[in-house]
Amino acid sequence: MLIVESDPAAVELFLSTGKLSCPSCAGVLRPWGWARERAVREAGQEERLSVRRSRCSACARSHVLLPDRCLLRRRDSVSTIVSALVTKAKKQASAVIATELGVPFDTVRRWLRRFAACAEELRVGLWAMAHALDPELEPIVAQGAPFADAVEALGVAMRAAGRRLGPRPGFRWASVLTGGRLLANTSCTFRAP
Ligand SMILES: [Zn+2]
Repeated sequence: MLIVESDPAAVELFLSTGKLSCPSCAGVLRPWGWARERAVREAGQEERLSVRRSRCSACARSHVLLPDRCLLRRRDSVSTIVSALVTKAKKQASAVIATELGVPFDTVRRWLRRFAACAEELRVGLWAMAHALDPELEPIVAQGAPFADAVEALGVAMRAAGRRLGPRPGFRWASVLTGGRLLANTSCTFRAP
């Protein structure tokens, strides 16, 4: 799987001009049909997204191209999920966050638990990524609150990516930087953009 722009026209252009690299071997990805349509929920609206499939011209592996509005296996947009994390880091109650975002309480609680379980791994990985994107970046100091420190690291890494590679609205860098696995149920992994 590879995280790509949410604009379908941009993805088609990148595919047709060989601008997308295989996450396995860095070969050129070519169009290869479509994956199952998926829903993304944002601001109370649900939208169906067409998801492109690609195939590497070098190693022949196929890769689903997931729009950067999404996280792997999450129905809500990355914008909604990161908003919840940021608000929780400011010590807001989960029930209030759920109400404000219009998302079921249990869903919000699952995100927060998942993020908390991976917080230390995420903080370390995101710091490394932020420094790789911006070697001038000052050393970052953990405050001893794993959840809030990981959210801070996410913010630092997203800003570094924005400065180096251009803006992506709605916290979409969070999806790109973590390869869509910000709240993955497996080990957290990172992908250099
Ligand atoms: Zn390949």
